[in-house]
This record gives sequence, C-alpha cells and structure tokens, in this order.
Amino acid sequence: MTAFVLATANAHKVEEISAILEPLGVTLIPRPQDLGDVVEVGDTLEENALIKARALVAHTGKAAIADDTGLFVDALDGLPGVKSARYAGEHATDLENVDKLLGALESVPDEQRSARFVTVAAVAYPDGSWFVVEGEMPGHIGHGPKGLNGFGYDPVFIPSEVAPRTLAEISPEEKNELSHRGHAFRALAVALATR
Ligand code: IMP
Repeated sequence: MTAFVLATANAHKVEEISAILEPLGVTLIPRPQDLGDVVEVGDTLEENALIKARALVAHTGKAAIADDTGLFVDALDGLPGVKSARYAGEHATDLENVDKLLGALESVPDEQRSARFVTVAAVAYPDGSWFVVEGEMPGHIGHGPKGLNGFGYDPVFIPSEVAPRTLAEISPEEKNELSHRGHAFRALAVALATR
C-alpha cells in the first residue's frame, strides 16, 4: 500500500474516511490548500469522483482518493442524485437542501418515500491507472429533521437497518458500519490490499 492524497476537505467526511482506512494501514495526506475547488461537471458519481481524483494527481504527482455521493429518492425520479450538494442552489446550505427535499415530498405517503445513498470512491495513480468502487445504503426519507449528529441529509434519512432512527440519531461508529461511505471505503481498502 502507499500513501494517498484525499480529495475532500469536509471535516465530517475526513473523519469518517480516516476511521475506516487508517486502521487498515492506509496513510492519508490532507488535500493541499492551494488547490482550488474542482468543478464537478460529470453526469454521474463515477465521473465526478474521477475528475476530483485526477485533479489531485495532476496537482501533487501523488496517488489520490476521491469520492462522490448522491441521495437518490425514488418518488423524485432519483433526485437530488448527482446534484445532492447543490439541490437548493449553487451554494445551498444543508438546511436549505433538506427543506427543499421535505417540500418536494410533502404529499408523498410513507410507503413511497424510499431512497438510497450511493457513494463512488475513485483511486487514481500518477501512471494514469485508476479504479472505482461503490457503496450503498437503502432507507427512506422522514417527515421532519430528527437528531443532531452528522451532516447533509442525515436528519431526514432513515436507514432501513436502524429505522425509525435517522442517520443523525446514531453514533459516528454506527453510521460508518452501515453507511454508503463505509461500504465504499471498506471495498476500497480490500481492493487496495489485493493490488
Ligand atoms: P459529496 O459528493 O460527498 O460531497 O456529497 C454530496 C452531498 O450529498 C453533500 O453535500 C451532502 O448534502 C450529501 N451527503 C453526502 N454524504 C452524506 C451523508 O453521509 N449524510 C448526509 N448527506 C450526505
């Protein structure tokens, strides 16, 4: 194994990813502060994860890991999906995104509020090689925010495995066990170990 530059600067995500990869012997290097925002122009999570990983390789000359996540809501034909971070506008806050989601689902009954989080994690190397892995978590969207932990859509996402609790009502350790990001990064650790 080698050391990898990590694309995300989001403290919550860095914590979640480090908790999974570092005990497995993967060394993570923080994202360089002089690298500006990488524009996510892809139509899929995989494209965006690769765009971010390759930008880091180009900037640092080192192997890099990047991830992209979307919340896919069935009643909304998969929205907010790839645009989850920008659902309520370009610089939307978590609160604004959650409000918009609850508004869009206002008249949708419980049995039609199914959704899933999907994370694609990409690894890119200076020699141009790369691979991606994916992780998923099924659940449904609640009727109002509950809980104080986590970030993003956590207060309204109820994972099937811990219902009726939301992601914001479980501990970070529990979230890592069952989350899209947890599944993706454990798959990534396995793939790295066998390379
Ligand atoms: P990113 O690709 O990881 O930056 O995720 C895009 C958006 O999805 C974020 O801005 C959050 O709104 C949402 N998101 C990603 N991961 C999670 C999570 O674990 N819980 C809740 N929301 C998340």
